[in-house]
Amino acid sequence: MTSSLNTPHMPLLQVKNLKTYFPVKKGLLGREVARVHAVDDVSFTLNAGETLGLVGESGCGKSTLGRSLIQLDRPTSGEVFFEGQKINDLDFASLKKVRAGLQMIFQDPFSSLDPRMSVERIISEPLRLHRIGDKKSQGAIVKDLLKKVGLPESALNRYPHEFSGGQRQRIGIARSLALRPKLIIADEPVAALDVSVQAQVLNLLGDLKKEFGLTMVFISHDLGVIKYFCDRIAVMYLGKIVEYAGSDDLYKNQIHPYTRALFSAIPLPDPTAKLERIILKGDVPSPIHPPSGCRFHTRCPFVTDICKTAVPDLVEVKPGHFAACHHKDQFLNQKGAPT
Ligand code: ADP
Ligand code: MG
Repeated sequence: MTSSLNTPHMPLLQVKNLKTYFPVKKGLLGREVARVHAVDDVSFTLNAGETLGLVGESGCGKSTLGRSLIQLDRPTSGEVFFEGQKINDLDFASLKKVRAGLQMIFQDPFSSLDPRMSVERIISEPLRLHRIGDKKSQGAIVKDLLKKVGLPESALNRYPHEFSGGQRQRIGIARSLALRPKLIIADEPVAALDVSVQAQVLNLLGDLKKEFGLTMVFISHDLGVIKYFCDRIAVMYLGKIVEYAGSDDLYKNQIHPYTRALFSAIPLPDPTAKLERIILKGDVPSPIHPPSGCRFHTRCPFVTDICKTAVPDLVEVKPGHFAACHHKDQFLNQKGAPT
């Protein structure tokens, strides 16, 4: 990358019209008969040091978007820029270099760690793959990382199965930090953990975010967790961002009916409080043949004719607050679900 591109105003991550479709194949010849529209025309930017929360029901494309950002899933079209460099059409060797700066923390600390590797080998593996330092300096880095994630040095020669879920996620986090990445995609990092340890791991991530100056995409279906963690929030429905706003702003005023429905599902501190709740009925439709027009129209209580035919654009309805709904004016400045 040339240094001239590295201006202070350049976002760390820029995503333009990103689409990731998966082929649905049939028959002996594996003919493509349809496509899963997992991520369908997503654009956003993320500045260094910011955390973007990605929310939406299961199957809405959050993981695929996360994986497409770091090229674990290769996008079908669109562009991903990391520090000004377009990374979605790099060959494997060039991508490997860029990937050191982009890491992922996975949901399931049970399957994301190789059971045959000691903790030392797991955490040092990225250093070995990228040929950083010698055995001695790698050992020192691993010890330092273990300390940073709150595990004792005695963990080094033990194996993943000897640890609890929370400890395993700490090991995964230490591994993701080994190459000193700038951007971390955390995909539901606490969803598989006991509620009692979720807060501990979130606190750890918060501390590390500050200490390492990390930029994060934080994927979760839990709005309580997102509120605590994120500067900005993108709400996804069937492969598209339907609302995008600063956290504080979104918690005060949800504009898209889908967002309002998600927020309605948060348990209230005061169960007698009266509010207009939108209860989501049915499941997310199939992303193989997503509904025409606004993809949410089949479940939206405010649906009108236009919603069935015209795809609503994601437009800025007030500074920094974007929504993709034909009836957005109706919900602008209307108090959302109290949280
Ligand atoms: P989320 O993380 O929001 O639950 P995903 O990104 O995992 O959503 O999935 C979005 C859609 O893409 C789902 O319908 C899922 O079945 C499909 N999908 C995800 N990965 C693949 C794949 N490798 N091949 C085919 N379909 C996939
Ligand atoms: Mg997922």
